Amino acid sequence: MSSATAKMPLPEYDGLSRASHYIGREISKSQDLAIVLIYIHGIERLCATLGHARAGELLDDFQTRLASLGRRKTAVERLSDRKFAVVLNGLRNAGHVRLAAQKIERVMQETFDGAEDQSLSKLTMGIVNSPEHGDDANELLRCAEIAVLDGRRNNETICFYAPESADELILDWNLERRLDDAMRTGDLEVHYQPKIDLRNDKIVGAEALMRWYEPEIGQVSPDVFIEVAESTGQIIDLTHFAVQRVCRQASEWLAAIGDLNIAINITPSIILDTEIIDVLKNATSIWGIEPGALTLEVTENALMADRKMSHQVLTGIRKFGSRVSIDDFGTGYSSLSYLKEIPADELKIDRTFVMGMLSDQGDYKIVKHTIEIAKSFGLSVVAEGVETAEMLDELKKLGCDYAQGYFVCKPVPADEFERFLK
Ligand code: C2E
Ligand code: CA
Ligand code: CA
Repeated sequence: MSSATAKMPLPEYDGLSRASHYIGREISKSQDLAIVLIYIHGIERLCATLGHARAGELLDDFQTRLASLGRRKTAVERLSDRKFAVVLNGLRNAGHVRLAAQKIERVMQETFDGAEDQSLSKLTMGIVNSPEHGDDANELLRCAEIAVLDGRRNNETICFYAPESADELILDWNLERRLDDAMRTGDLEVHYQPKIDLRNDKIVGAEALMRWYEPEIGQVSPDVFIEVAESTGQIIDLTHFAVQRVCRQASEWLAAIGDLNIAINITPSIILDTEIIDVLKNATSIWGIEPGALTLEVTENALMADRKMSHQVLTGIRKFGSRVSIDDFGTGYSSLSYLKEIPADELKIDRTFVMGMLSDQGDYKIVKHTIEIAKSFGLSVVAEGVETAEMLDELKKLGCDYAQGYFVCKPVPADEFERFLK
């Protein structure tokens, strides 16, 4: 097999037909094969950090090194800007294939080692075997794609094809198409949950929460479709959609009512891409609203995935003038020393602690200490999931600044929130 010599940006890759040809030929010789489909994460970031030329060189280098993985020349093809296929023959069992995959991971690290940032070299490998999973080259490559998607969903570096995952993913694929439709048809809506100031019980703003009523399926939980969107890449469109909708809505409310702040949730992949700042700039300027009218909520865990990059993006958001809130605080793994440098304005105590605070000593302590920690770092603090008057009173006593929860109001459509405001 010849090596792909194309350079970025966005060259054409014709490795797919060569790979399927080669696989077909090997199968006809009744060889046992394993196909490893390699998916490289964060290509955009790689290019943004190193420049397209350097990123292209490193990926070519990676391909060259892969070709000398085994004793004989290994077949490697570049299928797209972020995918390679490696065909391994004569490996006797899954253990040997796993070893080869681990070797591929090491090759990746070595390629990016030294001068470059190793955190740029994350990959997911989907693996299929022939004859076990079929004897048709295109079908095998399709199964390898399923294994990659499965691995990405479960955050695994090495993922062997499992037919059961295919069924699950097909369900998801349906959701993927339906979600695209929903963004166009208006089945996807933004609801708003009021946030109140605990000093005077006044509404200071709301959290924007996505709602999807799918005509055939019914209500689809955001936990489900956000995860689908994150694994398919639709999260980018979905986030743009949310930002545009919220800004349009906020421009109406700000003109009619005055001061309000609306919070938008963003996911781990969004926080690793400076594009979100351009999206905010664009939407606020189109709708004529101040950046300070928006808060971006990002979970504590999302930040820990890549501290350097998330730090950079959050700093950019704050420089732009919008606020940053650390969501689900207390459920992640950040340390106190990290809090010192975190570019945030607010901590949001996870609802599981708030909901348990009056029945569980441990939860109570977590809520109390989080409020103290936030204060000592000069951050404001919000409790979410406030379901009773007793919880609200206790939070006031503990000095919590803001609250959100069913006791105040459930997330409601825009017009209902407007009535609630009045
Ligand atoms: P989250 O950001 O932690 O949102 C708070 C969740 O708590 C919401 O669930 C809200 O309806 C629920 N909640 C609020 N008050 C109470 C209460 O008193 N009791 C109880 N039991 N629950 C309460 P929801 O709307 O189902 O959203 C789930 C998650 O989906 C959100 O968690 C957020 O991570 C994600 N999500 C929702 N909309 C968006 C969006 O537009 N973009 C992104 N990236 N994520 C979103
Ligand atoms: Ca949130
Ligand atoms: Ca939360």
